[in-house]
Amino acid sequence: MFSTKTIELKSLKEIGLMREAGAIVAATLKVLSQAAVPGVTTAELDRISREELKKRGAKPAFLGYHGFPAALCVSLNSEVVHGIPSEKRAIKDGDLVSLDFGCIVGGLYGDAAVTVGAGKISASAQRLLDVTRESLAKGIEQIRVGGRLGDVSSAVQTYVEKNGFSVVRDFVGHGIGRALHEDPPVPNYGKAGTGLRLSPGLVLAIEPMVNAGGCEVETRDDGWTAVTKDGSLSAHFEHTIALMETGAEILTI
Ligand code: MG
Repeated sequence: MFSTKTIELKSLKEIGLMREAGAIVAATLKVLSQAAVPGVTTAELDRISREELKKRGAKPAFLGYHGFPAALCVSLNSEVVHGIPSEKRAIKDGDLVSLDFGCIVGGLYGDAAVTVGAGKISASAQRLLDVTRESLAKGIEQIRVGGRLGDVSSAVQTYVEKNGFSVVRDFVGHGIGRALHEDPPVPNYGKAGTGLRLSPGLVLAIEPMVNAGGCEVETRDDGWTAVTKDGSLSAHFEHTIALMETGAEILTI
């Protein structure tokens, strides 16, 4: 299904730069997670993300990407991904806040996402958040030399569905390196033992998007914001992971 010809394995030097980019993404998401409290606008979070990048000498990965107008994606509650920060949008108590952020260091990209609760969130929202984060860990466990891409996809899907939630099909994880989105696509659903064989130098962004209800999503009139079709809550976690000779290394921590 996947051609290895289009998959660029990264050198140790390239992975070194991606490690730097990943550390900056992780540090920024940590600051943003603490800043995402009731009353703060999503535009303020975008400003904070740009300041963090400036401080650390990195460039935003999302700003201007296919015309995206911000450095940060902020998606609330039933919004799945690609929410556009706005001055008019203040975070409310009980909101689920998905923060997706990327940066560029020396021409190489890092990409990660977290979902946090603002103020006090419901027990069901907390469970969705926990299962999504855990499903990412299940996927990462499958990244090993000689494994298959389908092992990763299947591990995420199996864990999510076992817990009564659904994985989004319309958006998937991806290879990453000198571009934000490279081959191979990494679906959050699939069959173990199938797909690309994983080899050292492969760098992937694994990103389960998990809905409390059905897996269907639609795009709002702004042309970006993806929302659940049934209005149910959605959560999103992502890491950039390099496969080294010795095993998987999470670059965005
Ligand atoms: Mg991504």
